[in-house]
Amino acid sequence: MKVFKFGGASVKDAPSVKNVAEVIRQFCNDELIVIVSAMGKTTNALEELVKLFFEKGDWKSKLEEIKSFHLEISNGLFESDHQVFERLESIFSAIAKYLNNAEGKPYIEVYSEMVSQGELLSTRIIRNYLNENVHKTVWLDARNYIKTDYNYIDARVDWEMTTRNIIEKIPVFAKDSIVITQGFIGSNGEGKTTTLGREGSDFSAAIFATGLKAESVTVWKDVPGVMTADPNKMPDAEIISKLSYTDASEMTYYGASIIHPRTIKPLAQNGIKLYVRPFNSPNNLGTTIGDEHAGMHPASFILKTKQVFVDFKVTDFTFIDEKKLGMIFNALDQLNIKINLMQNSAVSFSICIDKKFDKVEKLVERLSESFHIEMRDNLEMLTVKGYDQSALDKIYERKEVLLEQKSQDVYHLLYVPEKKHRDLSEMS
Ligand code: ASP
Ligand code: MG
Repeated sequence: MKVFKFGGASVKDAPSVKNVAEVIRQFCNDELIVIVSAMGKTTNALEELVKLFFEKGDWKSKLEEIKSFHLEISNGLFESDHQVFERLESIFSAIAKYLNNAEGKPYIEVYSEMVSQGELLSTRIIRNYLNENVHKTVWLDARNYIKTDYNYIDARVDWEMTTRNIIEKIPVFAKDSIVITQGFIGSNGEGKTTTLGREGSDFSAAIFATGLKAESVTVWKDVPGVMTADPNKMPDAEIISKLSYTDASEMTYYGASIIHPRTIKPLAQNGIKLYVRPFNSPNNLGTTIGDEHAGMHPASFILKTKQVFVDFKVTDFTFIDEKKLGMIFNALDQLNIKINLMQNSAVSFSICIDKKFDKVEKLVERLSESFHIEMRDNLEMLTVKGYDQSALDKIYERKEVLLEQKSQDVYHLLYVPEKKHRDLSEMS
């Protein structure tokens, strides 16, 4: 059994959907589970829809926009009397009905219910296209398989229940049909929709693959594979053809956006290979991530934007001791905030974290009685993994460096991006 994952960019318009169908056609003699994200930038649009709803803005126009986008794609794929149009119509009226009755519901619940619609729509459309043009399919609602906790917007998986659900039903469906289902979404104990965090579809693919003990997961991307840098920013970026699970996982930790950070662990634990391949030239082998590929690869540049630097200073003429660190770490743990970089001195402790939801504000609120807190927003963090002097020579002088750190294999730089800053492409 093989698991394929197609992200939003691979299904952003009708020709792309046709391309995905061609990729699948090449493999449809295998047992295949296909995980699909929302089309193009639909998830962002749905997030805006939810925001407008809560701000009592014109969410109806936003919904119309999202609907037109899906109808336009469908018009490029189906005859005008195709039954898929009725299905889409009913999904969009259900969305409107839900929002019309959502007054008083908690934000995170509405968020998950609405944002998950992107994947439900895309899989409906693609399923119909595959059925008629490539191979018989079975459409599954991922929420019936992936069971999570009540953390609606960044839900944790209940592996035991999820694995049981997957193994019980999916192998039977996969025998003579391509199984198609959604990335990113699950449901909690009450059956309410939850989401696995933005870009979580890769992780969904890993969850299904783990449950099925699949031989591999292939993530089909708009780049040739895992690269040593973002090719849009650094034209001499090279493809890394083989990577170990450990190196791949470390790269995602530092912000390599090519694979969702939670994807690697379950695959590594189960010895399931991960391929990252280009959907535009499906015969290219891309990158293979597995056990046996430890070792050297060229220095990799990983850029993380939207970083916040938070500095906690003691206020009582004492020092940053274990007790004070304990308070900070406790708050970080409770708010589920990951530290990207940290540094301490006698009287202060500084961290660099992602700007995500309202977590930074909540952190400050919790700790402002015990510390004097200073913050810097809109920063960038550059990590160079496997650096050597020639790699570091490519980094031109930054205007204002807030933090620089070197360990044996990894170099980090946290800095204020220049206003009209020369991008990384000028580094080489
Ligand atoms: N559609 C979701 C997102 O854009 C999940 C994904 O694409 O992986 O975040
Ligand atoms: Mg996406």
